[in-house]
Amino acid sequence: MMTSQQKSISCEFFPPRTEQGIVNLRKTREQLCVLQPSYFSVTFGAGGSTQEKTFETVIDIQAETDLEAAPHLSCIGSNRDNILKLLQAYQAQGIHRIVALRGDKPSGWAGQVGELQHASELVQFIREKTGTHFHIEVAAYPEFHPEAQSAQQDLDYFKAKVEMGADSAITQYFYNADAYFRLLESCAKRNINIPIVPGIMPIANFEQLARFSDTCGAELPRWLRARLKDFGDDKPALQAFGVDVVAHLCERLLAGGAPGLHFYTLNQSALILEITKRLGLH
Ligand code: FAD
Repeated sequence: MMTSQQKSISCEFFPPRTEQGIVNLRKTREQLCVLQPSYFSVTFGAGGSTQEKTFETVIDIQAETDLEAAPHLSCIGSNRDNILKLLQAYQAQGIHRIVALRGDKPSGWAGQVGELQHASELVQFIREKTGTHFHIEVAAYPEFHPEAQSAQQDLDYFKAKVEMGADSAITQYFYNADAYFRLLESCAKRNINIPIVPGIMPIANFEQLARFSDTCGAELPRWLRARLKDFGDDKPALQAFGVDVVAHLCERLLAGGAPGLHFYTLNQSALILEITKRLGLH
């Protein structure tokens, strides 16, 4: 049995757009508190639409829970002035952790890439402007970023983020534990010593997961894809199978040295509670 004191658990939300969404997220958060998470993070949409909502959601978490709230912040499509204003606003609110990303271009994006092109430049900028105020999380990719020209290069760029001042990393989700262990090995060889927490995506819906995976370059292994497809409309059976698969993955990751787990919640708690119950984390 492993306790949440030994391994850091964190949960990621997206900012709700409606009153009902806000109410639902509060309930989800309350339910996830049983995991004693180290922090709750809130995603940030490049291009504007959800950016204010990220701020509001972070402030709501901070006001309503005892937990640390960590905004995601991306640099794509933005400029130094706007990023600085946001950093200062978070500092003024007593926020001390930030997830620094380049950001994904929204579909149909026709805007500027922005003044800061890569997450490493954003990390550098945050350190320049705010010193050590923020604990900076960055993204890591056990199966490599879809735009990476080579695995080696992707790792070099990851190292650049660490050299610029990242304190820890969260990975893209994956269902192949070996890819994560290989990433840890490669990082150790490069003297990258920050904690790299695996990002965990529960399996709630086959079509949605397949779509996400195709977009973000996370591999849905052939065997898993085929099995999930077979469940058709039988959602409870699919989810029960998914809990089995993901709980087993988490077990392997924790046993193999993962410093914690970061859950992509999609603002839902049920599957995460099932998975973590199996892991003895409640
Ligand atoms: P980078 O580290 O900049 O890497 C992006 C690509 O550029 C890689 O292929 C890398 O190899 C390459 N690269 C890096 N540096 C250089 C360089 N100097 N020269 C040439 N190439 C380079 N997106 C959002 O929009 N909002 C979110 O809230 C959000 N949250 C996320 C949370 C997590 C935990 C993760 C894993 C991803 C998240 N994303 C989010 C998605 C992320 O923005 C995308 O994956 C994006 O495409 C890359 O972001 P990055 O920070 O990894 O970029």
